[in-house]
Amino acid sequence: MTQESYEAMWESLNLDLSAHDGLLGVLGKFYGDIYMSQQGRLKGMEYLDFVLSEVHGLRIKELLEAKAQGRKIIGTFCVFVPEELALALDCVQVGLCAGADAGKEAAETLVPRNTCALIKSFVGFKLARLCPYTESCDLIVGETTCDGKKKAYEAFGELAPMYIMEVPQTKTPAARKLWKEEVLRYMATLESMTGKKVTAEKLAKAIKIVNDRRRVLQRLNKLRATVPTPISGRDVLLINQISFYDDPLRFTGAINALCDQLEERIKKGEGVVPQDTPRLMLSGCPMAVPNWKLPFIIESSGAVIVGEESCIGTRNTRDLVDESGQTLDEMLDALADRYMHIDCACFTPNDERLENIESMASELKVDGVVQYTLMFCQPYAHEGFKVEKRLTDHGTPSMILETDYSMEDVEQLKTRVEAFLETIK
Ligand code: SF4
Ligand code: SF4
Repeated sequence: MTQESYEAMWESLNLDLSAHDGLLGVLGKFYGDIYMSQQGRLKGMEYLDFVLSEVHGLRIKELLEAKAQGRKIIGTFCVFVPEELALALDCVQVGLCAGADAGKEAAETLVPRNTCALIKSFVGFKLARLCPYTESCDLIVGETTCDGKKKAYEAFGELAPMYIMEVPQTKTPAARKLWKEEVLRYMATLESMTGKKVTAEKLAKAIKIVNDRRRVLQRLNKLRATVPTPISGRDVLLINQISFYDDPLRFTGAINALCDQLEERIKKGEGVVPQDTPRLMLSGCPMAVPNWKLPFIIESSGAVIVGEESCIGTRNTRDLVDESGQTLDEMLDALADRYMHIDCACFTPNDERLENIESMASELKVDGVVQYTLMFCQPYAHEGFKVEKRLTDHGTPSMILETDYSMEDVEQLKTRVEAFLETIK
């Protein structure tokens, strides 16, 4: 596609073209500095470079072509929204990124200043007319997870077609019942929007597609456990981020091919870093694209990230939907059960998360854990204390870093990470 045809496409989505140009310029530079400067990247990474370079280009063209064929585009902000239902109705689901500081001033006219950067980002992107994904959506699905999101969706709902799923806050049988009803209510909404019906056959196929994407990410995470690790944490974060908006079949194929290359590298005993490089795990809030700040700081300070205990990481890929269901009812139950396993800090109590963090730290043979908390995020800040205690009892050093999307604290964060690495050594 030519630059003119891209611009015509963005104009048709009512984007602010000059602000959008500025965003792409910053994103391109940021990507070059953080990703293209890495040593020892495998050929399979070219797929990611291409997908990211076309994030506002060819992928948007594909979405608009799908729309022209009558398919609906569903946008989401949380891993609780079951993509299987959208796929079973031939919709395309995309994660809306919310990982950059753009439109912050505008966002602060609708949500309080002391709101987390992720929320301000999705409100800001909408108000500043910067996101072609948001503008392509036929429906945006929010959820009642944290209070900040819940209230922000009320304001956001004035600007875009929104639907809210009620996510319970506990894991009791009553909560499971509520969640199953929410899954059915959401399915009915999608059915009425598309004029189609979810059948057992279509849902089984959709479950397999999404499970296959989770399986390939599980495979990747197992390969990373090797010492020395064959791939950088920055690259794996990017893979997880891209999994939210690329076509699932294409994505699974490309990452399986990359995993084959990683296996070759492991067989030769090669790593992306020397064997004695400190291995760290990230834990906490999601890092939506293009939020690469902390991984870059950590990996340019002499450590390597080998795991992300996060929704843009294992929280989204650890559990599969049981594929043994034969009837539509059995499949819907399996779907509801799988999503109830998500260990988001919005749940109380949330002891499963502590178990998961401890086993990840062991399996990945980490030397330390960096808890990443977005400023003003109450749920993850509260859980930070428990996570720190559990890790200390487990003998794993940890630190908590609270930040946002601005670049002002980069030097300060780097100093703290370097000091942490000194204590590990
Ligand atoms: S951290 Fe919780 S609210 Fe945020 S995306 Fe994950 S599950 Fe959803
Ligand atoms: S980072 Fe925390 S405050 Fe922000 S949306 Fe997620 S759970 Fe809510």
